[in-house]
Amino acid sequence: MAVYNFSAGPAMLPKEVMEQAQSEFCDFQNTGSGLMELSHRGPQFSQVIEETESDIRELMNISDDYAVCFVQGGASMQFSMIPMNLMLPGGFAEYADTGTWSAKAIKEGKGFGDVKVIASSKETNYDRIPVIRHWKPEAGSSYLHITSNNTVAGTQYHSFPETDAPMIADMSSDIMSRVIDVNKFGMIYAGAQKNLGPSGLALVIIRKDLAERTPANVPTMLKYGTYIETQSMFNTPPTFGVYLLGLVAKWLKSKGGIVGIEEINDVKSEALYELIDNSTFYRSPVDPSSRSKMNVVFRLPSEDMEAQFIADAAKEGLKSLKGHRSVGGIRASIYNAMPMKGVEALVDFMNEFARKNG
Ligand SMILES: *Cc1c(COP(=O)(O)O)cnc(C)c1O
Repeated sequence: MAVYNFSAGPAMLPKEVMEQAQSEFCDFQNTGSGLMELSHRGPQFSQVIEETESDIRELMNISDDYAVCFVQGGASMQFSMIPMNLMLPGGFAEYADTGTWSAKAIKEGKGFGDVKVIASSKETNYDRIPVIRHWKPEAGSSYLHITSNNTVAGTQYHSFPETDAPMIADMSSDIMSRVIDVNKFGMIYAGAQKNLGPSGLALVIIRKDLAERTPANVPTMLKYGTYIETQSMFNTPPTFGVYLLGLVAKWLKSKGGIVGIEEINDVKSEALYELIDNSTFYRSPVDPSSRSKMNVVFRLPSEDMEAQFIADAAKEGLKSLKGHRSVGGIRASIYNAMPMKGVEALVDFMNEFARKNG
């Protein structure tokens, strides 16, 4: 039986990537050693990290004004590194509050300056992306922080605010899933374990001039400048994570790049939302203006039925459909690596379950 893993993260990786990593695991390029056993300064890993960076630059059309960095500590470390490095002295930063992850970013920001929450959808239970009224940032704003896709609530920005302050986006759960203009952002970051590779690694794309703001007393390992100056090789980088991210980037290129994967992602998410909207059994708690193409959340008529749905689906090989513990319900995470066949299997199961129980 085919197994489809709908986990929100760590999430499934492309099967082709897993198989290639397996085939090279013990003997990388006829060296007789696995890549994780080789020096990070040797020719093999040097080539891996250089190609990974150049493939990411090509996929996302990143200009030389930006650095591409590989940083440990996941996306959560960035919640702290951002204000530590980029909050102007005695200054303030603006944040949009769209749920769980943005709340964590806001909390860490408060340690380093004044945090102004300029938009929030808390009152409606984070069921939508709030309108950011403050299109023109208040003079002196260090940056505007947003969470482009809200993994827990199942919401996503379908357009981005225009702002003069550098816009910083946590794209952990939708990076490289759709075409975006990197030049609109001061910084983009993502924990790898949703769309890019294994957990622990964060991809950071930062406009180089912003890194010059960093106060001198920030520890070396927490300075963006350190990663920029050393090509992320100040210390031993997470070599296996970078390697897998590189394989994912090559896989994306083989799928027609981000334009190609975006088309597939549109078809996948539309199939699920269409079923939900045409059903009297399933219900979406998310405002249609803000529905995520990565994390499709929905409800059934009762919590008992939801528990039954999750258990029956797992028996059919459709795994990890339980919603986040803070909100309940069902969540189907359909990142880049989820094949159309997996979504089709879920659609068939949902139709059958509604017919039997509706
Ligand atoms: C998963 C996730 C995070 C946390 O990532 P870690 O790598 O575990 O720190 C942060 N932001 C968003 C939007 C996420 O989906």
